[in-house]
Amino acid sequence: MTVIGLDDTDSRTLGMCTTYLATLVAEAIEANGGTIERLLLIRLNPAVEHKTRGNAALAIHTDFPAGQAFELARAELERWAVIDDDRTSPGLVVAPGSADTVPTAVTQFARDAVRDFHTVEAAVETVAHSGFLAQGWHGGRGQIGALAAVGAWAAFDSWTYEHISYREFYRCGTPREVDIDSVFESADAGYPTAWDTVDHGEGEAVCVPNAPGPILHGIRGDDLTVVREVAAGIESEPVDREATFLTNQGTDMHLQSGTVADLRDGHAYRVTGTVESEPETRRGGHVFFTVSDDETTLPVAAFEPTKRFRNRVRSLRVGDELTLCGEVSDGTLKLEKFAVRDLVETEATTPVCPECERTMKSAGREQGYRCRDCGTDAPGKVETDIERDLELGWYEVPPCARRHIAKPLVRGGFDAVTHPER
Ligand code: ATP
Repeated sequence: MTVIGLDDTDSRTLGMCTTYLATLVAEAIEANGGTIERLLLIRLNPAVEHKTRGNAALAIHTDFPAGQAFELARAELERWAVIDDDRTSPGLVVAPGSADTVPTAVTQFARDAVRDFHTVEAAVETVAHSGFLAQGWHGGRGQIGALAAVGAWAAFDSWTYEHISYREFYRCGTPREVDIDSVFESADAGYPTAWDTVDHGEGEAVCVPNAPGPILHGIRGDDLTVVREVAAGIESEPVDREATFLTNQGTDMHLQSGTVADLRDGHAYRVTGTVESEPETRRGGHVFFTVSDDETTLPVAAFEPTKRFRNRVRSLRVGDELTLCGEVSDGTLKLEKFAVRDLVETEATTPVCPECERTMKSAGREQGYRCRDCGTDAPGKVETDIERDLELGWYEVPPCARRHIAKPLVRGGFDAVTHPER
């Protein structure tokens, strides 16, 4: 077996897409008599600043001999990669042998690529030690992602599917013709096995991208047959070609456990804390609050694109106990989901007179409260119930704001009740 890793072939403005290149390489292998065992679409650390969009890297598992696979992939890459864009820095890595038995250094490289940062030099060195074939163009930064994609199969234990349908290439850059009603109908038929296809709250077909590339739609889910069925149910302009990828999307693989005191920028965490300041909506509709843990304060943000999720965040009160998930950037945690572990359900209020039901007045410093009209009194403030519109359990951003790698609550396996968005 041979494993081909590819990355960084597209441009934010000029289109293309590395998944498309992987599909073309796979077709070329088949046209030359090889067999494709599987295609992987790997999402790496979402905090990497060089990313075009979703920090994806691709792997192809095939029975084609490594040397020939390398030549063929190189030819397709040179033909299709948007090398005119200075920011595009393609990489190709080809590993002879099974994807199950890559060296430990390569599996570790793949794990770290999701949660941490690598240099091109580290990738080139690991490639050389492992006896892989590799090439980089324009600095070859894509070799980082390509090597991570080679190691992913042995490194990761949680997989989902994405079925991608591509446009006729000459249409790229023109508006996509997709019947939105059919998207919603098909999405509902496949839910919850297929998730993040649409956003009911926003009325948005999340599976149809806005970027200029060749993807018509991508259907994500837990079952191969279901994602294909959902795609088949969508009425649209002609589908030119399609491919199903195994992915680490929707897995939360980017999150590591942390404590408020030792979070680092560029990493994503699952962390516990107590709400310390009342959520505040600032210019642009972004909502900010702070949590604390043992005297360390962590600023937390729910940005405008997270839409209705911000109402959940605004419902938080000082004293609520939370588990928070998100990436830390400039010292602020960008919230992707949170679990309410304990809700503040009472507050100290001035007592009400049992006779006339009006609020009592202070009877003087440390002398309690009194109703002057009725002569009733009370020794101090009383605890009254607060109406909360949050419950215990997990809340998440809606599908329209989901990061590729973030796990939707509807997938299950969380440690408390969930309140999924759809
Ligand atoms: P594309 O569709 O082209 O794959 P993208 O949004 O996935 O677009 P890339 O163009 O691939 O972004 O850019 C991401 C770059 O960052 C690649 O060169 C990749 O090798 C590199 N990269 C990925 N993960 C890491 C990491 N953990 N540390 C450092 N660099 C990384």
